Amino acid sequence: MTASSTTGELVEELLRIDGERVPARDGGTFETVNPYSGKPWARVPYATAADVDAAVAAAQRALDGPWGRMTASARGRVVSRIGDLLAEHAEELAVVETTDNGKLLREMKGQVASLPDWYEYFGGLADKIEGATIPNPKPDYFTYTRHEPVGVVGAILPWNSPLLLLTFKLAPALAAGATMVVKPAEQTPVSCLRFADLAAEAGLPPGVLNVVTGDAETGKALASHPGVAKVAFTGSTAAGINVMKSAADHLAKVTLELGGKSPNIVFDDCDLDAAVNGVIAGIFAATGQTCVAGSRLLVQRDVHDALVSRVADRARTIKLGDPLAVETEMGPVAFREQLDKILQYIDVGTGEGAQLVAGGARSSDPALQDGYFVEPTIFTGVHNDMRIAREEIFGPVLSVIPFETEDEAVAIANASEYGLGSGVWTRDVQRAHRVAHRLRAGSVWVNSYRMLTYNVPFGGYKSSGLGRENGIDAVREYLETKSVWIELSGATRDPFVLG
Ligand code: NAD
Repeated sequence: MTASSTTGELVEELLRIDGERVPARDGGTFETVNPYSGKPWARVPYATAADVDAAVAAAQRALDGPWGRMTASARGRVVSRIGDLLAEHAEELAVVETTDNGKLLREMKGQVASLPDWYEYFGGLADKIEGATIPNPKPDYFTYTRHEPVGVVGAILPWNSPLLLLTFKLAPALAAGATMVVKPAEQTPVSCLRFADLAAEAGLPPGVLNVVTGDAETGKALASHPGVAKVAFTGSTAAGINVMKSAADHLAKVTLELGGKSPNIVFDDCDLDAAVNGVIAGIFAATGQTCVAGSRLLVQRDVHDALVSRVADRARTIKLGDPLAVETEMGPVAFREQLDKILQYIDVGTGEGAQLVAGGARSSDPALQDGYFVEPTIFTGVHNDMRIAREEIFGPVLSVIPFETEDEAVAIANASEYGLGSGVWTRDVQRAHRVAHRLRAGSVWVNSYRMLTYNVPFGGYKSSGLGRENGIDAVREYLETKSVWIELSGATRDPFVLG
């Protein structure tokens, strides 16, 4: 497994449908660009509706065939084995991710190395999906429930953490006995293809996991395919709404993990060193390209100047560079349009009257001109109704908003269409819980930021999403419940009376 060819030639990839690596039916391809070098590094098939159709049919066959017939314990063992193989290949998969999306290798390594935990946890759950026997109030009926796989799942992914976000969906879906067609983002298609090879090696039968690479059109063909029973989507809120509409046409279930404009709230009684670190982690880690980025920094007036000056000092010394190098702290943004969008938002912020206290431009470092590098950027004097406080920028741009009281902080934090992550920095335990309970967000981190793991539910309030991933209940998102009624007496009942 290599991330790039040694000859400088493009790495050639194929779709994975029904256990085979195949070209697109009409032979179309597209290139994926390394955001550090600005050069294409791999060529992948462009899947059209015909390829999606073939992949959904293969997933349905697998559901009706060996996968559907496998016992839950055997299924669970295959899921756990996927984790074992992932652990063995974590490093090379991380290199592929970094080559495609420009995030730091050390972040991607850590991320990929954590994924086996998901497969172990959900693999272990496969044979614990139990129905219930229900004491029926009607005489002479024995009733029980079965939880059955939902069917074929269409998974659609963004570019920022492809394998992590695939795993959030795949591990519980496989535990539930469902099958999947995944459409990775057009910017980062390679890692899912390589991952699917490993999953097959782990014993996943043909057709259980199919990968179709392409863009929004391919995604649309998947979400609107009548053979897809459930769509699991992670991406922007705008695309999520379109996906939900496509799914609605054939009443497919949906889970949506969408955008955010998460508040990181610093009270004057906090540990300031820890808060500075948490603010940096919240917005500049992963070059700000995380759905939970703490992009709105709400600071209590008394500590505003001290905190901002320390965060700005640290931001100015963040080391930009090759994401594969160990000393690099911030890599490029993932692709050209994203760079342009971020620079436009910086102009918007200046135009709205916010003050730039750090960054504010594309990096001028001569060594970084091929890559899509933006300086870590901080705006102060931001009002919550400015566009830079309301809209998701998805880059290293922090908007600082001062507040006086706890009530005001909560009101500003909640005055957002989004509700994904949030941070609270305080030493007052009562305040910590009070504020955590009042925030309208799917995750609240107290004296930390950007934490997630396999057994803690993750998802968004409001425009940040629908449903939850991770945690024991994530399996339910891939199950149907069936109620079985057994008549015990053999008596003839009045056919014209309900029940
Ligand atoms: P995007 O919405 O542009 O694209 C996401 C995926 O959807 C891509 O695979 C794309 O091809 C596909 N797509 C786009 N339009 C579609 C349509 N109409 N029908 C079907 N598929 C369609 O998002 P992106 O730019 O790749 O990723 C960044 C966004 O993802 C940000 O908004 C970020 O907050 C969000 N995100 C959310 C989470 C979360 O868990 N909440 C995690 C990571 C990223």
